[in-house]
Amino acid sequence: MTTLQSPAEEARQILGALGVDLGRLGATGLPARSPIDGAVIGHLADSDARAVDRAVGRAAEAARAWRDVPAPKRGELVRLFGEELRAAKEPLGRLVTLEVGKILSEGLGEVQEMIDVCDFAVGLSRQLYGLTIATERPDHRMSESWRPLGVVGVISAFNFPVAVWAWNAALALVCGNAVVWKPSEKTPLTALAVDALLARALARFRAAGGDAPEGLAATLIGGRAAGEALVDDARVALISATGSTAMGRAVAPRLAARFAKALLELGGNNAAIVCPSADLDLTLRAVAFAAMGTAGQRCTTLRRLFVHDAVYDAFVSRLAKAYGSVAIGDPRDPKTLVGPLIDEAAAGGMARALDAASGLGGRVTGGERLPGPGVYVRPALVELPRQEGPMLEETFAPILYVVRIADLDAAIALNNAAAQGLSSSIFTNDLREAELFLSDRGSDCGIANVNIGPSGAEIGGAFGGEKETGGGRESGSDAWKAYMRRATNTVNWSRSLPLAQGVRFDV
Ligand code: NAD
Repeated sequence: MTTLQSPAEEARQILGALGVDLGRLGATGLPARSPIDGAVIGHLADSDARAVDRAVGRAAEAARAWRDVPAPKRGELVRLFGEELRAAKEPLGRLVTLEVGKILSEGLGEVQEMIDVCDFAVGLSRQLYGLTIATERPDHRMSESWRPLGVVGVISAFNFPVAVWAWNAALALVCGNAVVWKPSEKTPLTALAVDALLARALARFRAAGGDAPEGLAATLIGGRAAGEALVDDARVALISATGSTAMGRAVAPRLAARFAKALLELGGNNAAIVCPSADLDLTLRAVAFAAMGTAGQRCTTLRRLFVHDAVYDAFVSRLAKAYGSVAIGDPRDPKTLVGPLIDEAAAGGMARALDAASGLGGRVTGGERLPGPGVYVRPALVELPRQEGPMLEETFAPILYVVRIADLDAAIALNNAAAQGLSSSIFTNDLREAELFLSDRGSDCGIANVNIGPSGAEIGGAFGGEKETGGGRESGSDAWKAYMRRATNTVNWSRSLPLAQGVRFDV
């Protein structure tokens, strides 16, 4: 590992430069750590139930004023925020690397994703289109329009500590809502940095005469309890929650109990199929990044690989070589491709899954613990005789299970056998195979790709997955509709009152 500045020291410098009050970092409270060396950067005060109540109350009031600001003007705030992000891309990206441990190009990429979604939302602020619908009654007009929801609560996971919030907040704000964010307790510092950048954008917006109410966007530092308080608050119209399926299982019934809207982005157990005609050089690079990138800690990480018998030996031996040589270490070092795991618990989960796979006859390459400080592991490649046991669970660590297949229909059935349905890929140069994979009889996932790995989505498409992934969609396409309520409007501009379906009711 090369010698670099201490992560804690560097993180504090960046936080100060981005406008975060360093006085908030105390000696007690929620510890914020860097997984690079495991050291504590500082402690933060937890938001208790009263703080959640206050933030939601202010947001509810702010939402009532914000909905009166025309949508393109609301877009102007998001445009200014995008400018702040552009200016702060380097330090914020570095802070993501320091707090999550992803390599620097991925830290910067995460901020770029925030910028991209801001651009998307600015355009969207002039395109919150409704419909005109043909009506069966003469001299009537029927239409559909979209209205703000009020308060949107965002609960986010550690692995995309800021981009996921931006996907939600940029859209929610242009749609006319206030946003209350509960980031992961493992990544509170990047959240505070983003909060400071948004405060700058708000100040510029107001200085230019924009009407942005106080309390329009709030950030609550805390863990599960703060999340639960947000989920249970009747004033929060929509909860967009990103995290494990276990979290979604806890949150969904609480939201259903009060008939609140839910947008769930939960776990993934993503697969790829390698067919005989695949370009193996391209496939190797795609599989290596999708499976080992971000140290296996993406919801879209490739965890299951089905390789056709005709290319199995040639391809898997090359893959094993890549696993043996991939550079692991401090994610700030430009040579590093795999940084640390987030914490000890992640390494424990990985070791348990590898033990279970060995017990099922799995042949394991890699997977060993490397010297710290910090939790570093060599990514593991596990050849299994069949898909079973830990292969059907999401272990949030770099483990790729590989199974030999003989035909595509069977491989698609295996792809769809996972409980989750987030992302999937096929590597082939056969048009029929590619189209089958994308067809009604193909992958059952929210994302299905050809000749590109399952991870690393662009913001222009709707992002999310089926089954235990929760069914929510965020980011591009028409995902904005989740942040608004739909109203069907019928206007009678005639002098009579024809009832629908020819019903007669003459009083
Ligand atoms: P996690 O489930 O431990 O925590 C996620 C968030 O939920 C945190 O903010 C946490 O405080 C909060 N939370 C946990 N229990 C809660 C409860 N009962 N009520 C309210 N809030 C609660 O997840 P994590 O370890 O931070 O992230 C990894 C997981 O997230 C993986 O399963 C990964 O696949 C998933 N993920 C999914 C997506 C997606 O878009 N589908 C994106 C990123 C991560």
